[in-house]
Amino acid sequence: MSQIDELPPLRDVIERHGLQALKSLGQNFLLDLNLTSKIARTAGPLAGKTVVEIGPGPGGLTRAILANGAEKVFVVERDRRAIAALEEIGAHYAGRLTIIEGDALEVDTASLGDDAPIIIANLPYNIATPLLTRWLSPTSWPPRWTSMVLMFQKEVADRITAQPGDDAYGRLGVLCGWRSYATQMFDISPKAFVPPPKVTSTVVHFAPRPMLYPCEQADLEAVTAAAFGQRRKMLRQSLKALNVDPIALCEAVGIEPTDRAEVVPVKGFVDLANTWKAMRGD
Ligand code: SAM
Repeated sequence: MSQIDELPPLRDVIERHGLQALKSLGQNFLLDLNLTSKIARTAGPLAGKTVVEIGPGPGGLTRAILANGAEKVFVVERDRRAIAALEEIGAHYAGRLTIIEGDALEVDTASLGDDAPIIIANLPYNIATPLLTRWLSPTSWPPRWTSMVLMFQKEVADRITAQPGDDAYGRLGVLCGWRSYATQMFDISPKAFVPPPKVTSTVVHFAPRPMLYPCEQADLEAVTAAAFGQRRKMLRQSLKALNVDPIALCEAVGIEPTDRAEVVPVKGFVDLANTWKAMRGD
């Protein structure tokens, strides 16, 4: 392994700080700094940039982000045991690393720092989807983050990037397609992690999408919840949950009432959301 910094190997850091992985915190650590560098570089040149990282753990990805030139790095870590290890990284890269001990679900992570951040994370699997949904749902658009490089279980990555007609296409794919350009970059074998998880992981790059199809996000979510809540049913049946005439709703936007949710593109759901709002008249 080529050196990316003069800090000790991650195995030594884990040993010295008693950082044996806890399942309850979704801990699967990456110890290969060449691999964490590859992930960091997926975000593009980091020199002079602000980066927010969720769940740094022993700091393998944090070190790669700093070694690749990020000017300011904010990390949010819930595991108190990791803080001393992260402080050693902060001392090596003086003035560039800010460590926040806490629950990423309780911190306004995208607001950290003076400059709009890139978000990079090997996410704990149990909060990965809630965090992503939050970053895609700020009160105003475009969001504050400029891009995101996030690692998910492959099955979740497939739902994020799914297109109409794919088995994995559903509510998450519509939200991600509405708000972002999401691209699967590469897979990571379970063998790269300590301990190895049961499934393959995938690194996904997100860029914010200009708001070409405006609608109220709550309406879009209600429409996709109804449509995919009964995904094997035709829309004329599943959209009854919206308490308007589902056939009139579909016909108003030029969608076949006999279609199923899985074939409707993002723009179709936006049209349904806007027309549903107009039909409700509130
Ligand atoms: N970034 C490290 C790496 O790539 O080796 C660790 C990744 S590990 C999959 C997930 C990390 O998220 C762990 O360090 C865990 O303690 C942390 N974590 C879990 N739940 C968290 C939460 N609610 N808020 C912040 N960090 C959390």
